Amino acid sequence: MENAIDAHASQVDVVIENSGLDLIKVIDNGDGIANEDVPLAFVRHATSKIQNRHDLFKIMTLGFRGEALPSIASVANVTLQTRAADSETGLTYQIQGGQVVSEAPAAGRFGTAVSVRSLFYNTPARLKYLKKPQTEMSLIVETLNHLALAYPQIALSLTHNGKSLLKTAGNGDLKQVLAVVYDRKTAEKLVDFKGASEHFKINGYLSLPEQTRSSRSYFAVIVNHRFVKNFSVSNAITSGYGSKLMVGRFPIGAINIELDPLLVDVNVHPQKAEIRLSEEGELTSLIAAVIRDRLSQENL
Ligand code: ADP
Ligand code: MG
Repeated sequence: MENAIDAHASQVDVVIENSGLDLIKVIDNGDGIANEDVPLAFVRHATSKIQNRHDLFKIMTLGFRGEALPSIASVANVTLQTRAADSETGLTYQIQGGQVVSEAPAAGRFGTAVSVRSLFYNTPARLKYLKKPQTEMSLIVETLNHLALAYPQIALSLTHNGKSLLKTAGNGDLKQVLAVVYDRKTAEKLVDFKGASEHFKINGYLSLPEQTRSSRSYFAVIVNHRFVKNFSVSNAITSGYGSKLMVGRFPIGAINIELDPLLVDVNVHPQKAEIRLSEEGELTSLIAAVIRDRLSQENL
């Protein structure tokens, strides 16, 4: 999915069968891959989205080191269908256990579809290590929810065993995505906020103090379009509510934080889910102040 987003897709559809054990398919309408580049995409570390050494410090693409496709193709049966925007014919490329099984020209739509079947067929230990199917499926749903919140301008869908689990409009409206990810009633009551300081711009939606949950995880933190976990930011959000929150209760919502990518280090965590921020104190004061002001505007 991250590859689809990096390839500028405006629509990404995910089709899962049997919690991913039978099929994981990601279909996008992005740039596609030039036919002659397809084999390279499956060679470990042969591709890179980093153009020069400066890019390392301001990573904007979600992937960058050419690991996902080679890794999955070494432990599954992977079919990639792609057609680049300027290409008359596309390519269907099948690779299993790292070996090319077939390769054929294909017409088909612009963009890329990657199908993964027989996951971990050649690594029984890893297959055994998978969690229960429901647990794996809920992790897939969580991943889709996070991407939907970070990319309201991309139409995302998730289908499991033929049943639709998530569908966003892709019109850029974060509140509509919150309605899909949580529920319409919860989302309707959220209020918008925004603010800025020297290094940061923030905006998003927050719940009123009476609308809370018992976990912090209902307030999405998105930094430069990346869904992240950051304890200081989560703390700043709750401190903005101050004594209006009951003990053990946490608000609902989403915050977008925009900053110069040079001020973010995404390389502290292998999945890039945790990040380190420069000028963190400036950010946490901004968040707490903006939330406090917004709540007092609502006469709270
Ligand atoms: P990276 O970590 O650099 O994203 P991947 O292994 O995920 O590496 O992908 C390898 C390369 O294949 C990418 O750099 C990109 O050029 C190409 N690629 C993979 N998936 C897609 C896609 N859905 N659309 C366009 N190009 C893709
Ligand atoms: Mg990638």
